[in-house]
Amino acid sequence: MKNFNIETKCVQAGYTPKNGEPREIPIYQSTTFKYDTSEDMGKLFDLEASGYFYSRLQNPTCDYVAAKICALEGGSAAMLTSSGQSANFFSIFNIANAGDHVISSASIYGGTFNLFNVTMRKMGIEFTFISPDSTEEEIRKAFKPNTKAVFGETIANPTLHVLDIEKWAKIAHENGVPLIVDNTFPTPINCRPFEWGADIVTHATTKYMDGHASTIGGCIVDSGKFDWMAHKEKFPGLTTPDDSYHGIVYAEKFGKEGAFITKATAQLMRDFGCTQSPQSAYYINLGLESLHLRMAKHCENGLKVAKYLQSDSRIEWVIFPELEGDKYHETAKKYMPNGTCGVVSFAVKGGRKSAEKFMKNLKLAAIETHVADARTCCLHPANATHRQLTDEQLKEAGISPSLVRYSCGIENADDLIADIKQALDNM
Ligand SMILES: *Cc1c(COP(=O)(O)O)cnc(C)c1O
Repeated sequence: MKNFNIETKCVQAGYTPKNGEPREIPIYQSTTFKYDTSEDMGKLFDLEASGYFYSRLQNPTCDYVAAKICALEGGSAAMLTSSGQSANFFSIFNIANAGDHVISSASIYGGTFNLFNVTMRKMGIEFTFISPDSTEEEIRKAFKPNTKAVFGETIANPTLHVLDIEKWAKIAHENGVPLIVDNTFPTPINCRPFEWGADIVTHATTKYMDGHASTIGGCIVDSGKFDWMAHKEKFPGLTTPDDSYHGIVYAEKFGKEGAFITKATAQLMRDFGCTQSPQSAYYINLGLESLHLRMAKHCENGLKVAKYLQSDSRIEWVIFPELEGDKYHETAKKYMPNGTCGVVSFAVKGGRKSAEKFMKNLKLAAIETHVADARTCCLHPANATHRQLTDEQLKEAGISPSLVRYSCGIENADDLIADIKQALDNM
């Protein structure tokens, strides 16, 4: 599949049936797998042989779908997780423990911010949040001797700040740590962070990948490029023996290409069990088969709606990276020349109350805690996903209290615009 274009990979990568096998990926609805001898089973438990034994760790249906996402991102290994949250949690916790430090962009999804700033802090991991627009000097200054990773979102949810991946990767590498990028909003159709130096990519497959608001899920993809052994003392979990697997050293046994995902599967899935179900993986795959078609339509609608909003005097401001004059226009053009996503952020004149009234007036766009669905939906983050943030934290995250996050579906853009117009007319 390596040499095919991304559209072909969306449809066919990950699962290639042999003679007489099912055309569509089979759902292995089984917790367990049968072996002839205990010896065979023992080899699996020692990570000496690859194979399935218990679906809390791995399941063939989930692995077909992970392999497809891996091919789309151009990675070396991947795993599905039960949600985007667990993907981001694992991506950090696989390399940072109590006493360690992580640098994160302050412009990230509210759920991720809470995970990092509250829950993972309780686990003893310290986070420093800095603006995605930080200068090279400002990013360098955030490093500490115990920093283990740098984290950001390609296009931030909901501020639509665009990360200068090449710059952040360069500084992460200068300091001997990987850059982890949550690539949920553009999907690999529009941006492949590994091509710009990112080391690990995460996804909420819940969003565009599923695309039909049917299935919560996540994915972690490894580029296979980060040299853990070159920074042996920073990443003991990967570079020193794991006693729970008879002293295996992941970075030695599985190399740069396999160490990160194997460790996350063998330790974190084993212990936390944030497993994707095979049935849900099947739904995610159905979404992936049309991802390239849907992304093009989401982007087309996003741009049309953003341009309309820009022209309406009742709108205070519009953020959409593809708009001429947007703060991130040039960065978006560099990393996402074919389009960004279908999410548009804007404010209706009149502040927080106007946002609420406007959204109530919408007829086609539903108010939902969701984005990236085939059906247009919208949300008022200050009242929902980012409700737990103080005004100061909202400001730091770049979220205005009047921000409306409007996620264009794949309907006809004229109908979306007419709906917005009537909502504004009836204010
Ligand atoms: C939704 C979202 C998540 C969390 O995904 P869940 O599947 O809801 O856990 C993480 N990152 C981004 C950018 C998201 O939009």
